[in-house]
Parts: sequence; structure tokens; C-alpha cells
Amino acid sequence: LRGSRLRHLDPRSQSLLSNLQRRGFATRVEHTTAINTSDESRERVIILGSGWGGYTLSRCLDPKQFSPLVISPRSYFVFTPLLTDAASGSLDFSNLVEPVRDPRAKVDFFQARARGLDLKKKTVLCEATVVQSGVTQTPRTEDNEGHPANLAKWEQGELFEVPYDKLVIAVGTVARTFNTPGVRDNALFFKDIGDAKRVKRRIRELFELAVLPTTTPEMKKWLLHFAIVGAGPTGTELAASLRDFIHKDLMRVYPALRDIPKISLYDVAPNVLSMFDKTLSQYAMDTMKSEGIDIKTSHHIKSLRWGPPGAPPPYHMDPKGCLTLETAEEGEVGVGMCVWVTGNAQNKFVKDTLSKIGPLPTGFEGDGAPDQPQAPEKSSWEFKKAKNGALLVDGHLRVQLKDETGRRLCLGDNAVLETGSPPATAQATHQMAKWLGKRLNKRDLGQTAPFKFRDLGTMAYIGEEKALMQIPHNGDGKKRLKYLPEGLRGRLASWIWDGAYITMSISWRNKLRVAFRWTLNRMFGRDVSRF
Ligand code: FAD
Repeated sequence: LRGSRLRHLDPRSQSLLSNLQRRGFATRVEHTTAINTSDESRERVIILGSGWGGYTLSRCLDPKQFSPLVISPRSYFVFTPLLTDAASGSLDFSNLVEPVRDPRAKVDFFQARARGLDLKKKTVLCEATVVQSGVTQTPRTEDNEGHPANLAKWEQGELFEVPYDKLVIAVGTVARTFNTPGVRDNALFFKDIGDAKRVKRRIRELFELAVLPTTTPEMKKWLLHFAIVGAGPTGTELAASLRDFIHKDLMRVYPALRDIPKISLYDVAPNVLSMFDKTLSQYAMDTMKSEGIDIKTSHHIKSLRWGPPGAPPPYHMDPKGCLTLETAEEGEVGVGMCVWVTGNAQNKFVKDTLSKIGPLPTGFEGDGAPDQPQAPEKSSWEFKKAKNGALLVDGHLRVQLKDETGRRLCLGDNAVLETGSPPATAQATHQMAKWLGKRLNKRDLGQTAPFKFRDLGTMAYIGEEKALMQIPHNGDGKKRLKYLPEGLRGRLASWIWDGAYITMSISWRNKLRVAFRWTLNRMFGRDVSRF
């Protein structure tokens, strides 16, 4: 790609391209004439991301007015609230995914990652990810351009540009590690199907390792110590589901390992589930302690490395061995796996690419060929960001640019509303996507009242068929439903939890499959296979 075509790209995309070209990864940018743009009566809406925001919006847009195109590295939507159930053998992974491509939905799809943006030309630079992402999982390390590290050359996809009339950014977030030494390389994360599959596989692997005649009693203890860092809803539910899986199902398969497995739930905060009322949070802690889960609140993780506690460096990765988790309070402890679920950080696209898209540089050399020097352009765009690095949007979900407002919209975990942001949850993102779809269909975005989050309550599973349910309050602190208690807990809340997630599963196929699978589990136990 040379000269004039290259000049159309913003400087970040240009430097990304030239770096990729230098390393032999990408040789040219294809211009997407292959996209069906024949129907000019419909606006082309490019939706980045196939999660709660992107997938939901793509299903809400009126096909007579809009021609939605979803661009995402994964070709499916994941029903994240049930990911812990899949990791602990209660559900099949296929029970929680919906394909983006569906003959009934008039939605186009490219399996690609957004890499750059040209606001002037109104195009998105994309890199195909069809080969590299069989099942997406959180990459351990990324290179400077945000590629998962160590991709083979054949795994690199082509680059292409896609034009848009409207752009919706819903690329979600990545796991936040607070730069804790060793975590990015050695912990497991829990964001996508690939992550949950790794967790399930590692659990089974650890039991098989522990039962080998060559494993010492001390190593058995370390291998079967499961650490979960982050006592929010995801970490707490994962600890509870893991505990059920181990005690109700795996212990029947490995009677020789009885009394050895241990689950520890770490957090720097003094409570688990701190977004719940104090009484509910205390109930969760008491219940989980009585189930045998070690609640390690007010603990600060210092590092995570391969090798048993006390072993001298160098520390080599050895999946047959254990890891050492170091906390300020306890020192070093041996663990078989550590799942890191301490919240969200912005991904590379939002953090770096969508920063300042400024004037074009002069004399840029694209693929090594000398280029004509260019006069720098005067205009520049700067995306306004919130404190956490997310894109700042107004109450109508329009991205705020410092010098220009326009046709870019943003929703979900990568957005913060200037008017007061709802929590980064599927519930809020789903509501945003539905609201935005309605406004776009009615063509009155910006002319009606801004988006308002309606809190429908918060739930968390805490093990032994018990759950918590926080009843929503009105803004003035009064309960919305006068006769309901502050919250529900125990078995009743767990039945509501089951019912709610069956109802909320997207397709009828998955609603029925989830209900059927949970019934089968009661009769025959969970799936203990390892693959
Ligand atoms: P996501 O759903 O994460 O989707 C982001 C999409 O963008 C993905 O398809 C990703 O592949 C794609 N993408 C990433 N980078 C790019 C790029 N450069 N270009 C194009 N596409 C890209 N919330 C609740 O309300 N209740 C719950 O019970 C609950 N449980 C959860 C359990 C787990 C295990 C997790 C991880 C989250 C849970 N959440 C829950 C939170 C909820 O899932 C998120 O708030 C929600 O997914 C946010 O939606 P999103 O569309 O912003 O991002």
C-alpha cells in the first residue's frame, strides 16, 4: 500500500500498518468492495463487538432502514452470567453461545478485529482473525499492536477497510491485573468461552496430577489448592460453583483425594460482594465459610509465579507442577491454578487507537517506498475519555470528540456516560443496546430524554443451591416494590436465579437446553469429562 491510499489512514493506523509490513505480517490493505453496498436506501451501521452491546443492537435495528455489519474477533455471542456454570461442568459451552450469523437476522458479519479508524473517510481498518481465533480467550501477552503474542505468520489475517455511515463501538474490556508481577503470564482469566474451557480443563488436569503415585502429599495439597482473586459477583460465583463441582461430583470420582482440595477467595476489600447490602454480603461470607471456602478478604496479592513455594529462581513454566501465590499477609502459598477476576481495563483499541487521531505526518514511508511529503492537515480529533480510560459518551450514547461531534456511538463496558454511568454489567449494556436500537429506528436520537438505567436487581450464586438477590431501590433509596424485603437469600433466591437465567437466555433452543441440562445434573451429576 503506497502513496495516496496510505495517506487516507490516520497516523496510528499508518504506523500500525508499516510495523506489520516491516515484520512481514501484512502486505496490503484490501478495500472492501465485496461488501454489499448496493442498497443505498439503507444506512450502513458498523457495529464493533459481538457481546451484550453489539449483538443485542444488531438484532434491534430495523432492517428496512439499516444494514448492520458486525465486526468482531469472535463469531458468537456469549451469555456471560452462565460462564461459571459451564466451567464447572453444569452446562455445555454450546448452551451459552448464539451465533452472530443467523439466516433469520438480516445482519452481516466479518470475523475481524478493529485496528484503526479514519474519521475523515469514515472507514474502520480491520484485521481478519478467522484463523487465529478458534475459540477466543484472553491473550496472555500482547505485542505493541495488540496482537496476542507469538502468533505464527500463517495466523495473521489480512487487513481491510470498511466504510460506515454510523459506527457503534461496543468492544468491551479486558481483564485488569494492576500490573501485579507474574499475573498476565501465569494466571487464568475468565472473560470468554476459551478462558472458561481452560479453567475446566485445568481443574480436571490437577486432579489427575494429584492422584498419580509419583505425586508427594505436599504437592497434592498445592495442586488441589484453587485460588480465585477478586470477590465480586464473578469470583464469588466461580468459587461457589467450583466448590459444588468438587464436593458433589469430583470427590465421587477421586475418593482417594477426599479432604485435600481447598478453594481460597482473595480480595483486597474487607467484604465479598461489596455491591450488595451489608447484611447480604455478610450472609454470603458466612455461608461460603460454612461450605469450606477460605475467604481471604483484606489480602494483597504481590506476585504469582511457577514453581513450589520456597523454590529458588529461575522459575520455569511447568504445567505438571504448582504455582506460588504471594500475598503481603501470608507470604507464599502453593496453588494449582489462580483465576484472576479483579475487574475491567480498557482494551488496546479503546486505550491506544481511539486516543488522539491527529494530523497526518509528513513524508511517511508506507511499505518502504519513498512517499511524497504531505502537508499536515489542520483538523485533529481527540476522543474524550473517562477516568478509567473508557470512552466518554453523552446521555444519548454519542461519543464525545474534543473538536467534533458526529456519527459515532458507543455502549457497554467501554463507555462511561457523562450524565452518570450505570454499572458495567450485562443488564445495563442490554438496556443501552435496546434503547439505542429504538432511538435509531425512530430516527429521534438526541431529541428525546437521555438513556436512563433501570435497576432490575442483582443476583449472585453462593453455593449449595443458595443465592442472594438484592431488590432494586429507587433513586431516593426507597424500594420500588413496597412489600418486598431488602433482599432475598438462600434457596428461594437460588430458584429465582435459575428461573431468571433460563428466561434471559437468548434463544428458545438455549432456554430449553439450559433447563434440560440442569434437570439432568440433578439426576446424574455434572459433566466430569476433560477436553
Ligand atoms: P462484551 O460482552 O465483553 O463484548 C465485547 C465484544 O467486543 C466481544 O465480542 C469481543 O470479541 C469484541 N471485541 C474486542 N475487541 C474488539 C476489536 N478491537 N474490534 C472488534 N470487536 C472487538 N453482568 C450482569 O449483568 N450479570 C451477570 O451475571 C454477569 N456475569 C458475568 C460473568 C462473567 C464471567 C463475565 C466476564 C461478565 C459478567 N457480567 C455480568 C458482565 C457482562 O458480561 C458485561 O458487562 C457485558 O458483557 C458488557 O458487554 P459489552 O458488549 O460491553 O462487552
